[in-house]
Amino acid sequence: MYPSRFRYEAPRSIDDAIALLRQGAGEAKVLAGGQSLVPLLKLRFAAPELLVDINNLPGLDYHRADPDGTIRIGALCRHAELERSTILATRQPTMAAAAPLIADPVVRNRGTLVGSLCHADPQGDWASVVTALGGHVVAQGANGRRNIPVAQFVTGPFQNVLAYDEIAVEAVIPAPKGTVAGGYLKLERRVGDFATAGTAVALEMSGAVVTRAGIALTGVGGSTIDAAEAAQALVGGPLTADSIAHAADLAAQAAQPRSDHRGSADYKRHIVRTFVERILTRVQPSTERAA
Ligand SMILES: Cc1cc2nc3c(=O)[nH]c(=O)nc-3n(C[C@H](O)[C@H](O)[C@H](O)COP(=O)(O)OP(=O)(O)OC[C@H]3O[C@@H](n4cnc5c(N)ncnc54)[C@H](O)[C@@H]3O)c2cc1C
Repeated sequence: MYPSRFRYEAPRSIDDAIALLRQGAGEAKVLAGGQSLVPLLKLRFAAPELLVDINNLPGLDYHRADPDGTIRIGALCRHAELERSTILATRQPTMAAAAPLIADPVVRNRGTLVGSLCHADPQGDWASVVTALGGHVVAQGANGRRNIPVAQFVTGPFQNVLAYDEIAVEAVIPAPKGTVAGGYLKLERRVGDFATAGTAVALEMSGAVVTRAGIALTGVGGSTIDAAEAAQALVGGPLTADSIAHAADLAAQAAQPRSDHRGSADYKRHIVRTFVERILTRVQPSTERAA
């Protein structure tokens, strides 16, 4: 099927892009990597009157670490750049683990992390990762910029809080206060598929003690699930076999999976429990069960 007719603009400044979105008055859409939007257009699930292509906007194709350890990902930073990133490989294990698991190489060459957050697919991997890391989105509109914690940015399946004339210009991962640990595991039916279930775990530690924890779940609810209670159960002590099992149980309880062609609800819950346990056990493999 062909998309509905639309006007296409490719502005060269953010101000011009925002002005075009204002003109569109809710009938315009931002086009970034196009890996989610173009299929929607072709299926006519989306029929905007105007496409504002942001690929010519200068200064958005970066990811970098600030001196304090804050990681910033610009709106035109592709998944593939994150997959090859030495910054993530050396500083951010949860993101480094997730990057190669997003779709396939063709999609990773064009798609963006920020676009993935904006698209708010319950099966989007990055939303879980950024939620577990306590990250936020920087949105820019006619009145300037605002920071939106990602847990508030995504409001439901395929919904975010951006105003129609705002562009998400950056995703930000706050600087850790201790050493970082964690990972991302995803069960997919075949390489390149969306998640049957995915689990992001992000820890900050002072010695053996967990000082901050985030756990978020992909594909097991109507939206990304922030398993905050499971994460909080880890804070304030070392990882032990008991604390790991407890957190894994709480994460499985937080999941709201539905049975579908990818698996039964019980199976997906089991995957969540297993993945949380697996990631945490790898962080601290020599944990002892309390007597
Ligand atoms: C075959 C296939 C397999 C895939 N598998 C996976 C997978 O396993 N895991 C996964 O997480 N994703 C997967 N995806 C989705 C992919 O990661 C997309 O790249 C991502 O969801 C959207 O990023 P994009 O830059 O392509 O955004 P686009 O498609 O350009 O836009 C998506 C939506 O976000 C909005 N948007 C984009 N950028 C901005 C911005 N800066 N400001 C405001 N609004 C914006 C657009 O208006 C649109 O509504 C897959 C896609 C395909 C085609």
